[in-house]
Amino acid sequence: MSIKENLQNIKSSIPEDVTLVAVSKTKPVSDLMEAYNAGQRIFGENKIQEMADKYEDIPKDVEWHMIGHVQRNKVKYMAEFVSLIHGVDSFKLLKEINKRAKSHDRVIDCLLQIKIAEEDSKFGMSAKDASSLLQSEAFSELKNIRIVGLMGMATFTDDMKQVESEFKFLKSTFDALKPLQTKNCQLQTISMGMSGDYQLAIDCGSNMIRVGSSIFGARNYN
Ligand SMILES: *Cc1c(COP(=O)(O)O)cnc(C)c1O
Repeated sequence: MSIKENLQNIKSSIPEDVTLVAVSKTKPVSDLMEAYNAGQRIFGENKIQEMADKYEDIPKDVEWHMIGHVQRNKVKYMAEFVSLIHGVDSFKLLKEINKRAKSHDRVIDCLLQIKIAEEDSKFGMSAKDASSLLQSEAFSELKNIRIVGLMGMATFTDDMKQVESEFKFLKSTFDALKPLQTKNCQLQTISMGMSGDYQLAIDCGSNMIRVGSSIFGARNYN
């Protein structure tokens, strides 16, 4: 099936209030343009350099989401145009994003990545650390970032019961933190669910899904 048909199928199978991030990592600009011409305006990449290159080549009404692990020394390459950074997992990183956003006179929206998987390889903060961060004075002083939600990645497993309990954990963490509304913390987004599990994620409360291979086909890492 074509990229356009894939997008239509996914769109018609999710509620309207769920945001679809088309994960285009490793895919050529021609594939992104096919999605763009089918109406898609939100793209997710996991490498800053690749995202910055594609940003140059694609119409400017696209929203770019950084969904991968972010190295502090590369924040400067996306600070001018990134719309949402999903994988923020430390105060140090947030401080760097704030500094770079300030130099472009903007406020950058971020999600805190919460560690929900059992595997050690997944990045993220504990729910407790996220809670202390959001209530700290140092955080309240960051005027050029805004935390708008949480992101999580479930364990890579066929055991859907385990994935479900990890998604439910992220939703309950979100519900617990949501009352902490401040100037730079307004939680509204739960980014969870990928090609293999987005329906389950939505059932568990996700309102932003990150879908790659179900739109663009399998990735080929050479
Ligand atoms: C690659 C990636 C996705 C998309 O994965 P698919 O299984 O291809 O849908 C989603 N989220 C993150 C963080 C990713 O790195």
